[in-house]
Amino acid sequence: MDKKPFVTLEKLEEIVKDYPTPFHLYDEKGIRENAMKLKQAFAWNKGFKEYFAVKATPNPFILQLLKECGCGTDCSSMTELMMSEACGFSGEEIMFSSNDTPPEEFAYAAKLGAIINLDDFTHIQFLEDTLGYIPETISCRFNPGGVFKISNDIMDNPGDSKYGMTTEQIFEAFKILKAKGAKRFGIHAFLASNTVTNEYYPLLARQLFELAVKLKEETGACVAFINLSGGIGIPYRPDQEPNDILVIGEGVRNAYQDVLVPAGMGDVALCTELGRFMLGPYGCLVTRAIHEKHTYKEYVGVDACAVNLMRPAMYGAYHHVTVMGKEDLPCDHMYDVVGSLCENNDKFAIDRMLPKVDKGDLLVIHDTGAHGFAMGYNYNGKLKSAELLLKEDGSVQMIRRAETPKDYFVTFDFCDILKNY
Ligand SMILES: *Cc1c(COP(=O)(O)O)cnc(C)c1O
Repeated sequence: MDKKPFVTLEKLEEIVKDYPTPFHLYDEKGIRENAMKLKQAFAWNKGFKEYFAVKATPNPFILQLLKECGCGTDCSSMTELMMSEACGFSGEEIMFSSNDTPPEEFAYAAKLGAIINLDDFTHIQFLEDTLGYIPETISCRFNPGGVFKISNDIMDNPGDSKYGMTTEQIFEAFKILKAKGAKRFGIHAFLASNTVTNEYYPLLARQLFELAVKLKEETGACVAFINLSGGIGIPYRPDQEPNDILVIGEGVRNAYQDVLVPAGMGDVALCTELGRFMLGPYGCLVTRAIHEKHTYKEYVGVDACAVNLMRPAMYGAYHHVTVMGKEDLPCDHMYDVVGSLCENNDKFAIDRMLPKVDKGDLLVIHDTGAHGFAMGYNYNGKLKSAELLLKEDGSVQMIRRAETPKDYFVTFDFCDILKNY
């Protein structure tokens, strides 16, 4: 399938008059429509709620937009909790799914009334020591170990991941939490990442539903909600078939009907903590070609670099590139598309077939809406870009300004030498 940017060259040329490249651009219309579709897919479940994984796109304007769509937030750090609070999320609209958690973060989450999702068995005591009590509503993160398979495909390797409790531990945890006063329980698991298949959620759900029935039978705990967490992926590559969230919702419904309803658990609420699926396709990185270099390979040098989008450098991740205005030309040139870091892995694309790129061309790097800007850093003293929102009415709102040298130097505020920048 051809991947088309959600923005036209004409519109981009208008935008770059006000906002210099590089920048991340988000598509309000796409975000809203997708969020509505998710809601529709799970409308059959009375208590359903999506808790947007803040770490994917930690921007208050995005969070507010998602709040309007009925989402809560999933946080895993102090500042994510603070941002959620500042955006008006409160109480059980906030899920705190962290790991290796510092005590002050548990305390802050509890103060906000957030649902705390315990990553480990030992965190029961740690939480009680920190708060002085165990909250009435509490969730535990499950890790079944082994590998997570769909048919014969290994999707991921939970046995190698640091998250969650073993089967034995979660049973013990429920008993202890119940004895310490917990009344409403949740179960959470995240077993595979970026799954581009409609089968992941239904399989995960069935596994968690079966666990929930056993936990209820064995411990007498009231399982109030089951959290399918994140992991629904997006088609980064043009040949990938996108997930169909309506099909996924139906698949989960079947498992629910098969397992929970007969066990008298037809009132269990479902929740999700999607990040990538909610935002990934609805953001792009806009950058300009500023150099061509011809050595042992052909290079296009752009004005963005890995600090703006780390996934290719970090995971070798594929991000589709469109050379704006040249969509209909043949892809008969092979390039490495590179940034300016003094790191040879600072490449947005390697051996990529593109139309001939000329200096000044605008390039759209697709699917940067989640885990894009958010993973940014400041290596080589590079500054983070602006984030812009393309609104439904076609106007553009700056939702984060670009960093300036002053921002980069601000943590030296205890001395005078850099105060003039
Ligand atoms: C990262 C994360 C998510 C979101 O994952 P996506 O792949 O973006 O859907 C959800 N929950 C937890 C606990 C996470 O760490």
